[in-house]
Amino acid sequence: GIGPTTGTGPRIIAIANQKGGVGKTTTAINLATALAATQTRVLVIDLDPQGNASTGFGIARGNRGRDSYQLLSGTLPLSETQVDTGIPGLTLVPSGMDLAGAELELVDIDRREHRLADALTRTPAGRPGPSDAAVDYILIDCPPALGLLTLNALVAAHAVLIPLQCEFFALEGISHLMTTVERVRARFNPALEIQGIVLTMFDRRNNLSDLVAEDVRTYFGDKVYETVIPRNVRVSEAPSHGKPVLLYDLACAGSRAYVKLAGEVIRQTRTLAA
Ligand code: ADP
Ligand code: MG
Repeated sequence: GIGPTTGTGPRIIAIANQKGGVGKTTTAINLATALAATQTRVLVIDLDPQGNASTGFGIARGNRGRDSYQLLSGTLPLSETQVDTGIPGLTLVPSGMDLAGAELELVDIDRREHRLADALTRTPAGRPGPSDAAVDYILIDCPPALGLLTLNALVAAHAVLIPLQCEFFALEGISHLMTTVERVRARFNPALEIQGIVLTMFDRRNNLSDLVAEDVRTYFGDKVYETVIPRNVRVSEAPSHGKPVLLYDLACAGSRAYVKLAGEVIRQTRTLAA
């Protein structure tokens, strides 16, 4: 394969921010689609009970049954929870109805923070071993909270990618997430990295967007992607058609931005692997 992490297993990236509506799901769907378009194989895990990533790929709720709840509970191995998205190189572990209760159920379970990490390294035979996901990237779409579901994603991941909306208090919001990342490093996953911060819903007619972007870049330096995702109506329309924006309107500004972001992520992962 030509994947950046061939031989070392997939690069697992949690897309997280405890704030809702900042572009996590949109980034998971469209970054995954843009990565898959470059011949890299991608798996998206929908870890949000709301299931927006699943519906965004046109996977209807009724078709589910193989889902991320079964992955967390250990009922099914990864290979049996993946569904085809119809997009070459892109598979999905959908969210399921039961995921809403998972947060509570997990509290009393053994290795509750490690359920997803364990599932991602389980062979089809159930023995511990290399991941049975024959993919280059696994993107985990996290719910808008720092509960056990997001914790499971951060423990399973190599890195966290943080979408940040260009609005007032954006930096304040992120400090809570950074504290959680520190805690996860200290207790569960010492190697957890910051993959990057992507500015979303950027409005270039709005001075505040520029000011916030400047602040974030001053604070986080080169951890902030050069690519900025503009606010773009085509991006917000695409999910209601059950399609990533790249398949809905490839030429729009939102699609172009996600293609550019994928390029940055690929270059970055190559550098890390080198
Ligand atoms: P989250 O997963 O963090 O809750 P979403 O990705 O679901 O956030 O985005 C929240 C809302 O904003 C959705 O309705 C989505 O379609 C819309 N949205 C996200 N990114 C953009 C964008 N670049 N331009 C316009 N609308 C966007
Ligand atoms: Mg979401």
